[in-house]
Order: sequence, then C-alpha cells, then structure tokens
Amino acid sequence: MQNYGIIGYPLSHSFSPVIHNMAFKSLGINAEYSKIEIKEENFERHVLSLKKGNWQGFNITIPYKEKIIPFLDKIDPISEKIGAINTIKVEEDGGWTGFNTDYIGFLKPIQSHIDKIKSCLIIGAGGAARAAVYGLSAKTKIEKMLITNRTIKRGQILVDQIKTFAKINCLFIDLTELKNEKEKVDLIINTTSVGMGAQKDKMPVDPIPFSYKNTIVYDLIYNPVQTQFLKAADSAGLNTINGLPMLIWQAEASFNIWTGKDFTSVLVNQLFKIL
Ligand code: NAP
Repeated sequence: MQNYGIIGYPLSHSFSPVIHNMAFKSLGINAEYSKIEIKEENFERHVLSLKKGNWQGFNITIPYKEKIIPFLDKIDPISEKIGAINTIKVEEDGGWTGFNTDYIGFLKPIQSHIDKIKSCLIIGAGGAARAAVYGLSAKTKIEKMLITNRTIKRGQILVDQIKTFAKINCLFIDLTELKNEKEKVDLIINTTSVGMGAQKDKMPVDPIPFSYKNTIVYDLIYNPVQTQFLKAADSAGLNTINGLPMLIWQAEASFNIWTGKDFTSVLVNQLFKIL
C-alpha cells in the first residue's frame, strides 16, 4: 500500500482526499490519501517525523506552501521561480522533490480567454497568488498587474520578484487605498482565503469598481462554490469562475508527478458532478 497525504491547517474544507482516493480506486492503484493537519507550532517537528515515515507523496496547502521549502532536498526550476510548493514527490532514495502544480490548474479554466487578458487585479500575495502570477506571466500576453494584499510587505516582495522574471507593468496597491483606484481590468482574481470558513460572509474586495462588461472574476476558493465575491460579480452580469476546475486540474498534475498517470475523462466528469 502506498501512502499520500495533504499537509496544511485547517483541512476541514479540503476535497483533495476525495479526488485522489477516487483516482487511485478508478486506476486500480493500491494507495491511500489522508489529511495531515499540522498546527503552526508543531510544523517543523511533524514534518521531520514524516520524512522518516512510509510516504510516497504529499500535497501542501494553506499556510505552508512557502514554509515547506527549507525541508525539500530538490525543487524543480519553475517551482523555484514561483517560490511556493503544493506537491512533493518522495524519491526512491527518500529525498523530497518539490513541485508547483497550482499554476497549471489555475490556467486551465481561463485557457480560452488567454489572448484577451492584458490587465488584472490580484488580491492576495500568498502561495496561490504566486502560482497565478507565474501562470499569467508565462502563458498570457498580460501587460499590467495590480496586486493588493493585507500585509503590505508581502505584497511588495511579490511585486519586486515578478519584475525579476517578467516584463510586466506591476504595481502594489495598499488595500486601504484601493477605493481610490478606478482602473478597469480584464481579470480580477481572489487568491486570499477571505470568503471561506469563518470568513464565508466576507468579500476580500468589491470587484465591481474594477470591472467592465468583459471582465472575468475568478475566485480560487472552491468551498463554498459561490463566494460573496462571485455572487457580487454574478449579480452584475460578469463572467465568473470558481476554484473547482483549478482544484481538479492541479490534482491531476500532482497525480501525474506521483504515478505517471493522467485522470480519465470519466473520472473528471464524475469529480465535477460530486464536488
Ligand atoms: P497562503 O499562502 O496562506 O496565503 C493566504 C493569502 O490570504 C494571503 O495573501 C493572506 O494575506 C490572505 N488573507 C488571509 N486571511 C486574510 C484576511 N482575513 N484578510 C485579508 N487577507 C487575508 O494561502 P494560499 O495557499 O495562497 O491559499 C489562498 C486561498 O487560495 C485559499 O482560499 C485556498 O483554498 C485557495 N486555493 C485554491 C486552490 C484551488 O485549487 N482552487 C489552490 C490553491 C489555493 P497576508 O499576506 O496578509 O497574510
């Protein structure tokens, strides 16, 4: 029996065990995927004990996508550029190699709009924001990015980092100053956790002042399927995308790294029906 798991805190909202356990079953792989909930104060001790256990791979989620990096033995070059890890493969010799598959999942649902996206507003500067920024800079013709974040320093660090690998006009705007910003953008993305769990009745930012009729409003949250942020955009007649397609496609990319196999179309259809 192979063992896989998701490391994060909290994990009550996570659909990853359902996805991967269904995939293992449908592809006839003898493996189990479990939740490994670790509180911040126990993170280092618990991760070091996992390194000694019988594990073949992990997903890493909120709030550890950046904090896990010092515990890796290798990191693939794109993931190093992104600066956040959501997948670990345990190699034959027990070494941990880190990957980022969030950017692959993030791009899938906007694939058909890619040529039209020239400007965006990104709310948040954590691991998911880093994946979105990399995906947009590598695969679209984006010219302008506005980034806002609760913690100013973290937002500014991300903006400075983008400038090292992409020729994009990239600006940080303090959340409190955003109300003075009137620019309309092609894509607005919520990469924060505001809208889920205890914050499910909140919006990180009102998307309407930044939108025009063709703006796509994308929330990476998948539980609930329609956040307050998406409800507001939907009520204004805007094109909205939730985090469910990203969740499924990043999971498939992780699964492929671990097993060399893709999800079948039957499995993907089943996942979209049950999640
Ligand atoms: P992370 O690295 O911990 O970053 C969290 C982000 O949310 C930071 O920008 C943080 O701001 C912000 N934030 C948290 N609480 C806030 C609050 N009360 N007010 C304002 N901002 C707040 O986490 P992550 O891995 O990037 O994940 C972020 C979200 O994306 C989660 O909801 C996660 O479920 C979702 N996600 C979805 C998928 C998918 O497949 N659909 C994949 C990855 C992530 P500070 O810097 O100020 O702390």
